[in-house]
Amino acid sequence: MKRELLMIPGPVMCTPSVLGEISRPVVSHVSSEFIEVFGDSLRKLKQVFMTESGEVFVVAGSGTLAMEMALVNVCEPGDNVLILSNGLFGERFREICMRHKLNADYQQAEKPGSCVSISKVEEKIEGKEYKAVTVTHVDTSTSVKAPVKELGGIIRKTNAVFIVDGVCATAGEEERMDNWGIDVLLTASQKAIGVPPGLALLAFSEKAVEIYGERKNPVDSYFLDTQNWRNVMDSYMNGKPSYFATPPVNLIFALNTSLTEILREGLEERFKRHALIAQAFREAVKSMGLNIVPFKEEYAANTVTAIYYPEGVEDKVFRSEMRREGVIVAGGLGPLKGRTFRVGHMGNVNPSDIIATISAVERALLKTGCQVTLGQGLEAAQRVLKEL
Ligand SMILES: *Cc1c(COP(=O)(O)O)cnc(C)c1O
Repeated sequence: MKRELLMIPGPVMCTPSVLGEISRPVVSHVSSEFIEVFGDSLRKLKQVFMTESGEVFVVAGSGTLAMEMALVNVCEPGDNVLILSNGLFGERFREICMRHKLNADYQQAEKPGSCVSISKVEEKIEGKEYKAVTVTHVDTSTSVKAPVKELGGIIRKTNAVFIVDGVCATAGEEERMDNWGIDVLLTASQKAIGVPPGLALLAFSEKAVEIYGERKNPVDSYFLDTQNWRNVMDSYMNGKPSYFATPPVNLIFALNTSLTEILREGLEERFKRHALIAQAFREAVKSMGLNIVPFKEEYAANTVTAIYYPEGVEDKVFRSEMRREGVIVAGGLGPLKGRTFRVGHMGNVNPSDIIATISAVERALLKTGCQVTLGQGLEAAQRVLKEL
């Protein structure tokens, strides 16, 4: 049997109990067994999103679908949208806006590794009326984490709907929908939620639902119109089936099991574990003389880290060396392609996984001709991990 550590920023490794749900016999989407599980998973998702008043949606699809679902339900053609972008996934919001004829005001971080400043955001929202403001909580391409709490504090004072892409953050980074004033929170199953790819997960606040109610035109997508899904989610939560489009039953069984495991660990504990493992990893790579992409520790993400290669290390060679060691890491994205590698450390990641990853990085760097002292990164990580 091939055993490897999948340390990429999604999809992530799943627990055996979650995987077991994928191979269970398929049941009817209107069976009592499924009704109960779907209802449970929607209630648990609200807990993981930290929302009481938000309406949750679980739809077959990926994170990109969730991004599009958020925008098309909130906005109509011609609306102004402010996009706060710290990397490639911010850019994706802009592309979705263009496709739906939304007026995107694209505010980009100065350079890869920096983060759009709060003062810039204040200046922007004072100058124009926006229907929505989007931000990527953790931009997976740069591993930069946006200050979502502070942004929420500013945006909640305006009429704009605050849309947060939590795809690489939710259930890993501290993220409190109601408390922080998030209006649409979206994520996907295959990142810190710990389920195989295939589910788009969203919640809409009362403000977002109200804005929907004021629409002049129907949503220009049949599948993505929340109006079509609302009754489905409400029914299952009330113990009754309802049909709009067939739910991916096995994935929803897996989601329910993973959410149970997440809540059993406890969200606060989970945030702490992610923070400590990420810190251990950052300390390790820095002690090896490598540079991470985020300029400041305060916006270095706890779910993924993007690292610059030292002079002379070839991306292809390094990553195939890592693969030979049994550790799968990701390459760079966009302008960082070829110059960086990315390590995902979210979901079920534990201290042993990160130690194994660091040791493989040390050996792979040595083999690619770098000056590294074996054990240096491990020692730095150990000093942090002993606090867990
Ligand atoms: C992975 C990711 C996406 C895209 O999700 P898909 O499931 O690949 O469509 C969007 N935003 C962020 C921040 C991501 O990490």
